[in-house]
Amino acid sequence: MMQRVFKRTLATVYSGRPITAPVVEGFPGAVGNTPLIRLKSLSDQTGCNIVAKAEFMNPGGSVKDRAALWVVKDAENHGLLKAGGTVVEGTAGNTGIGLAHVCRARGYKCVIFMPNNQSQEKIDTLRMLGATVYPVPVAPFTDPANYNHQAARYAASLENAVWTNQFDNIANTQAHIESTGPELRHQIASRGWKLDAFTCATGTGGTLAGTALYLKESAAKTKVVLADPPGSVLYKYMKEGKLERTGDGSITEGIGQGRVTENLKAALDQGAVHDAVFVPDEESISMVFRLLHDEGIPVGASSALNVVAAVKVAEQLGEGHTVATVLCDGAQRYASRLFNKDWLVSKGLYDAVPEDCRHYIK
Ligand code: PMP
Repeated sequence: MMQRVFKRTLATVYSGRPITAPVVEGFPGAVGNTPLIRLKSLSDQTGCNIVAKAEFMNPGGSVKDRAALWVVKDAENHGLLKAGGTVVEGTAGNTGIGLAHVCRARGYKCVIFMPNNQSQEKIDTLRMLGATVYPVPVAPFTDPANYNHQAARYAASLENAVWTNQFDNIANTQAHIESTGPELRHQIASRGWKLDAFTCATGTGGTLAGTALYLKESAAKTKVVLADPPGSVLYKYMKEGKLERTGDGSITEGIGQGRVTENLKAALDQGAVHDAVFVPDEESISMVFRLLHDEGIPVGASSALNVVAAVKVAEQLGEGHTVATVLCDGAQRYASRLFNKDWLVSKGLYDAVPEDCRHYIK
């Protein structure tokens, strides 16, 4: 018996599967270097390679760990944050969670202002990580009561505190120029593919802008497509130059914008974003369940929206192309909503859940 176990262990080591996972230094060292997952069912369906960065595998559980680390390093480098200081941010939750981890690792306090329509799971996670959380009523960016302006004022009222300002702080875009972009390029090249298109939704715009700017330099032929949910102005802005909403609102958390942030502007000014697609919530919800049921990958609605956009672009391009996107975070962060029949019914989205997936819902 012992011998069989031993042989099996050796077989695992020598099976030819490359062991690439590095040894890293603390939480910050574990950020990034996420796998690129080829989505088999959707690749088969489209005749393309549909591939997605598994950002839910970041140590804080989302793509925003990258931005969180970069904005804190930027504040430190500019002398804005000293030992024992406080990081203050306005966030839909994921940046806050990334910041709360980084703050614990670096000995800072963390204070988060977030709109009070976000999932309870994100608030609970933030509090578990020791952050002080202020859920505030939803208000547009033009209103001084908006969660970002509250964060800015709070930071200004404290000694040794910094408002990391993820929406307009270019260190956020820089995170993706220095990490997501190069990782994607390396992963695509390692399979001998050519990256034909990249699709990505926008909250702050950091993920889209940084990756797009890196691709512009390194893979100029890649078509970069902004994926937009209902209630956001960016689809019409890309198509018609108008800051006008398409549709009312969306259940997708963390994405959709009412303005052109400095991060997004950095990429638009360089002509690094070429097109946009609009994705209704019904399609995002349906894809949440398709990814879970067909691929075993539970993701949040923004990830699903990104994948819907990747499939649409692949269908436009035709067979034989490679389209990449981003799986921003995991479904666990939204379990009380996406997997709850009452909630889905209240949003008019229960019928969007594919019939063969209804058993996932309580
Ligand atoms: N998806 C989720 C779940 C998010 O929390 C965010 C960030 N708010 C995004 C996507 C968008 O990322 P970015 O801020 O880089 O545009």
